[in-house]
Amino acid sequence: MDNLYYCPVCGGLMEVVYDYKGASLELKEKTNILFEDTMWRYWGLLPVEDEANIVSLGEGNTPLIPMENSFLEGKGKIYFKMESVSPTGSFKDRPISVAVSKAKELGSDTIIVASSGNAAASAAAYAARAKMKCIVCIPKTTDMGKVSQAIAHGAKVVYVDGSFSKSFELAQKASEAFNWCNVTTTFINPYTVEGDKTIAYELFEQLQGKVPGAIVVPAGAGPLLVGIYKGFEDLIKLRQIEKMPKILGVQASGCAPIAEAFENKTRVKAWSKPCKTVATGICDPLRGYEADGQLTLDMIVKSGGKTITLDEHEIKKAAADLAESEGVFAEPSGATSVGALRKLIEEEYLDIDEDVVCLVTGHGLKSAAIFDCNPPVASSIEQLKEIAQN
Ligand SMILES: *Cc1c(COP(=O)(O)O)cnc(C)c1O
Repeated sequence: MDNLYYCPVCGGLMEVVYDYKGASLELKEKTNILFEDTMWRYWGLLPVEDEANIVSLGEGNTPLIPMENSFLEGKGKIYFKMESVSPTGSFKDRPISVAVSKAKELGSDTIIVASSGNAAASAAAYAARAKMKCIVCIPKTTDMGKVSQAIAHGAKVVYVDGSFSKSFELAQKASEAFNWCNVTTTFINPYTVEGDKTIAYELFEQLQGKVPGAIVVPAGAGPLLVGIYKGFEDLIKLRQIEKMPKILGVQASGCAPIAEAFENKTRVKAWSKPCKTVATGICDPLRGYEADGQLTLDMIVKSGGKTITLDEHEIKKAAADLAESEGVFAEPSGATSVGALRKLIEEEYLDIDEDVVCLVTGHGLKSAAIFDCNPPVASSIEQLKEIAQN
């Protein structure tokens, strides 16, 4: 069997479907150490058949921590889902672990990925682990932290001129021409979303079965968001929960094709203006694959949620506030969920008696350059005292 990227009949997106009869979140026999501490404990609901094919670096099972210095005054709690502490520093390890495991199961020895950076870092690491060759197509604007991760793991990295959509197109053409397995974490590889959905299972367990009122998700094309929707839908099918949380999608106003369609009540169109944002992880103009964004918008609407956009000032402030007042260092894209939360509270959109989960999707070390690093010099305790008191 080959990896299928689009339906051979209608050209539409592919999706993995399970037989839910007899399916369960709990694996009865923990035969593999990975079934204890990683997202592979949900193996029964992941699309890899032989456990020998699982390629894992310990992804998933990330902490859920409450916000300490809350600006929400009600009975509800705000939580951060700390995807930033994943093996390569972003949630992309979940979709990539599934996609690389499936590539191994299908007999591939070479993977290719188009990425805004984090999926490249992750694919390079998992390919190293699986002894596969990895080719990475990224825009020139990619954060240096992410590029250096991909290079460190031995991937063949190429810059592609233009936005992420150009990298996407080149990777797609190459994967078809050379039969390299395309693990790009949009919807093109149907297995990646399956990794994303494990976040919903974990939230269900971490909140002891209580469904939060809302989940705030940074969204590029949106597979992470769709994966979370799918995970909660699985929990409904498995009769574990009854209602879907509202799923809120956050985009940067410098590239917001999904939010624009939500606000104008239209179908999702590719972003035609130039893309400009420090939140490069969610900067996807969707040129050539608008259907991906439409699927994301449909899930937001079905869950009763909405979209939020943040401007550049709001994004940088969100990252700075999160680091300063909570001790959580997130890359700009990863902090947008918390920036959006502040807006949602100001707009009184959120019910303050319900729990809210903000996804912190990537670590701050990946794009540390947004902070002005120019500390003063001290050589005496007097100077040090003066600096400390300022
Ligand atoms: C990829 C990425 C996102 C967006 O995820 P999509 O599934 O592409 O919508 C958000 N935050 C970070 C840090 C990312 O790397």
